[in-house]
Amino acid sequence: MTTKQMWETIKRYFGDGHVPGSAPLRYNIHICEMIPSSPFTASGSSRYGIELSEAAMPLYSVLGDTCPPPCTCFEMPAVVKHIEEWLENNPDDIHPDDMAITSGKNDTDADEVSLFIMRDVLSWWVHWGGALRPEDYWKQIYVAFAAIPDDIQLSPAAFFDGTYRFLGHTWNDCREGLLKEGMTPDKVEFVEMCLWRQILTQYFEKVDPALYPLLKSKTTLMTQYRVHTGNTLGCAALVLATMDMAPGVEGVQDHALEAASIAQCLSMDMAKEALGILKGEKTETVAGNRVQLKRELRWVYARCMEQLNAHEEQAFLLRRFASAGLHYVPMMDRYLERVNGNSRFPITELQAKILAPFINSRSVPPSLNKTLVLSGAVSGMNMDELGIVGTTNGLNANGPESVEA
Ligand SMILES: [Zn+2]
Repeated sequence: MTTKQMWETIKRYFGDGHVPGSAPLRYNIHICEMIPSSPFTASGSSRYGIELSEAAMPLYSVLGDTCPPPCTCFEMPAVVKHIEEWLENNPDDIHPDDMAITSGKNDTDADEVSLFIMRDVLSWWVHWGGALRPEDYWKQIYVAFAAIPDDIQLSPAAFFDGTYRFLGHTWNDCREGLLKEGMTPDKVEFVEMCLWRQILTQYFEKVDPALYPLLKSKTTLMTQYRVHTGNTLGCAALVLATMDMAPGVEGVQDHALEAASIAQCLSMDMAKEALGILKGEKTETVAGNRVQLKRELRWVYARCMEQLNAHEEQAFLLRRFASAGLHYVPMMDRYLERVNGNSRFPITELQAKILAPFINSRSVPPSLNKTLVLSGAVSGMNMDELGIVGTTNGLNANGPESVEA
């Protein structure tokens, strides 16, 4: 399947949201029409995630007051049109920077980057409320597929045809694994379509320099695009799946899932700003009049969290996921490496033992083993050991059931 065909597939799957012509970059929620609730009412749901109300935000110098953003939501069809023109003009599915490392941390080996990503995935997973249990192995690999486009320019074609492997796993292995973990085919289809949309939007953002200026300084439009590139929607659906909760009225239509996916990204931004690592990012969401744009983002965050105070249990359960950026950012190696001048923390021996089961030793290049050893973290660990090393969760390297290399 070509990149263009992938785009057409997700366009059919997602359809339009509240903005005509926005498929596949649709949203159910119209952010600008979300009505603030009383800032002084305790929601009763504060045990689920951090309650950081609009009224409390000015207590923190890194936050402050809020302001409703001007509505730019109806510019999404123009973004869709721009992407479709790019696809028409670039039918070859090849770009000179495909598979280039974009982590910004002086990485030189794509498999090593994948290992760091796996570390990050498990770190996110714990903060989102998940456990490191074997039953969620392929859900965690899914999150890894959702994280890798941040750090590598992953070509959609290579992802789709299986040329690209994450630590030896193809996307097909992962999809089969999700089914074996008990997710229903329609839920797997939903998270797969979310992942395709993410890979495509991430790719366009990297290969088409004319895209970012269309979004810049437009809070609601930018937020909506960047949430697609983060695929927190698919990840939110997986977090619910670990609690045996399917996304409500079918994932695509689910408002709570959407609010949680937006808030997750914005809680991360607020915490990054507190650490001083948001400013200057290539795709920085508040580039321009930062002070004003940050006020607008906080307004959107507050509205999305209020949405999760709604009555159904599922929305409550998503509050922890939605507010998790506030506590995972200051804890995680991924962000502390940025604070540390973008220099990598070596994988420790204990980390390597946790990560080893996620490597499919049948197809991962030997360079990874070399990298681990060279990093000084693992001494004398050879490829076989990486593949079958005693694990913290009782799995072998190929997951609950072996997959063909
Ligand atoms: Zn709007």
